[in-house]
Amino acid sequence: MANYFSSNFILGILGGGQLGKMMLYETRKFDIATHVLDPSPEAPCRIGCDYFEQGDLMDFDTVYNFGKKVDVLTFEIEGVNIEALEKLEAEGKKVYPSSRTLRNIQDKGVQKQFYKTHGIPTSPFFIFQNKNELNEAIVRKELHYPFVWKSCTGGYDGKGVNIIRDAGDINPLPDESCIAEKFIPIKNELAVIVARNPSGDVKTYPVVEMEFHPEANQVEYVICPARIDATVALKARTIATKVSEAFEHVGLLAIELFQTLEDEILVNEVAPRPHNSGHYSIEASYTNQFEQQIRAILDLPLGNTDSKVGGIMVNLVGAEGHTGEVVYQQIEEIMAMDGVTPHIYGKKQTRPFRKMGHVTIVNKDISEARKIAEKVKKTIKVISKQNNNYANT
Ligand code: ADP
Repeated sequence: MANYFSSNFILGILGGGQLGKMMLYETRKFDIATHVLDPSPEAPCRIGCDYFEQGDLMDFDTVYNFGKKVDVLTFEIEGVNIEALEKLEAEGKKVYPSSRTLRNIQDKGVQKQFYKTHGIPTSPFFIFQNKNELNEAIVRKELHYPFVWKSCTGGYDGKGVNIIRDAGDINPLPDESCIAEKFIPIKNELAVIVARNPSGDVKTYPVVEMEFHPEANQVEYVICPARIDATVALKARTIATKVSEAFEHVGLLAIELFQTLEDEILVNEVAPRPHNSGHYSIEASYTNQFEQQIRAILDLPLGNTDSKVGGIMVNLVGAEGHTGEVVYQQIEEIMAMDGVTPHIYGKKQTRPFRKMGHVTIVNKDISEARKIAEKVKKTIKVISKQNNNYANT
């Protein structure tokens, strides 16, 4: 067994954003040395790693040469050069999660087909290479309104996803490869994080619930545990385990799920890394998702995934109308509230809707936590210095 702790071992991380930064809290805890590659000289990871390299994550040579210098390579963002990972793997480098997982999920069409092939429940879909093929399927009456259009490669955080209700909604769509999914009336949006190590040990975290803003269609609260029946929760965890095993995934896999009106569970999509839906675990779980990721990719024993306390997470995103040097207005007021911990990612510049941090609220009573979360959301504002006076008037 490799000695990772206070040794010459080096873990390489592609991507230096907030997920990497929170992973580095754990490598520091274990005294595991790290190298980080990111294009931004101001990447949040910069302060926490042992060696920082500025470079393009999509460039073959940059990723390959970075990977050569580390013992195990991982990533905190999916947009990396896969060919470089494949070459490193072929030369015997340990890359976790594997390039194969990335190949199976980077394209939404390939990902959906993977679920179908492996008997994993997901909404019915068509794959089209271009807009013309999509139009023809409508003319042939194979595809019916309403449906959900998703770009195969362009989507992130709701961009590249459109609900198509009639022919007028089709005109503005870009001409590119896409999927058309059956529109599912959703009772709840849920997520389960599964950890799996190279030895095949598997553990699932409790089911979390994504509560959406009624109008803005943005996730407002991530709530753990989800306020759902135990039978539905068990079904969700069982399906999530099946997904992780189908991918033979190593590391964390965050699985986003729909609970239908009939209490069916459908897999929407996965992320092969620590996930926004698991941030609550830093304060609320026996083993937080970042520590678990380190344990999983280094083939260490997986930690207990149970919660110690109820947890809710609120994203801190840049306020509309504010661009520039960031200020966290009324942060002290929220810190005076019971069980409230802010996490500030360290991005110096705010922009409307940019993810700047998050806040965790813990309470043994989840409905009490939910009330405090609402107060947090109303109190703290992520604004820019330049607009300070304007915002106060
Ligand atoms: P992204 O990768 O951009 O997050 P998603 O595939 O998660 O895109 O879709 C974004 C949101 O769109 C989901 O959280 C859900 O609210 C809605 N959505 C996606 N697919 C469907 C569907 N088949 N039926 C109904 N709503 C959907």
